[in-house]
Amino acid sequence: MGGNGGPLADASPTLEHGRRRAVFVDRDGTLNPDFHYLADAERLEVYRGVPEGIRLLREHGYRVICVTNQSGVGRGYYRAEDVDKIHARLNAMLAAKGASIDAFYYCPHTPEAGCACRKPGTELFTRAAKDWSLELSASAMIGDRALDVLAGERLGLLTVFVPQLGHGAEARAELISAGLRPDISAPSFRSAVQRVLSLG
Ligand SMILES: [Mg+2]
Ligand SMILES: [Zn+2]
Repeated sequence: MGGNGGPLADASPTLEHGRRRAVFVDRDGTLNPDFHYLADAERLEVYRGVPEGIRLLREHGYRVICVTNQSGVGRGYYRAEDVDKIHARLNAMLAAKGASIDAFYYCPHTPEAGCACRKPGTELFTRAAKDWSLELSASAMIGDRALDVLAGERLGLLTVFVPQLGHGAEARAELISAGLRPDISAPSFRSAVQRVLSLG
């Protein structure tokens, strides 16, 4: 289905009705170390294996969409422009290795605001699905916290848990207390990508 018979036919970039599959990725703790309320784009670092993983996903026809909670905006720690700068720098760092993220969606609200867009709310995902003609049932979510797994589960995505060094025990405890069972647990972003592709 979908392939046009060319050398990349196996990648099947489009599904029925021209929709694409996507891998949604969390940002802090998944693509980059979580510095808690990162405000300065210059401090951004990307985990090893992330550019290669994103490049692989795109080569296999996936859109790569970053969905992130940035309550630091709502708390007044930094501004929306700072978030945009971080995303521009992240994509510049990825571009140096032949990768890029198709789009960033973030929630600027505090948890107390009770919005529908803060993960594990699903509004940003459904908005992205509409904007990019994504087939959610053929898509995945990669993240380092229970709220990523829960959002993915609510949407019927393949859920991939990548606990990060240092915070893994805390995140695992969150999963257990929330009764969540991710479809895949992987030790690194790169191996998470390989697992997703092996199932695709
Ligand atoms: Mg995270
Ligand atoms: Zn929100």
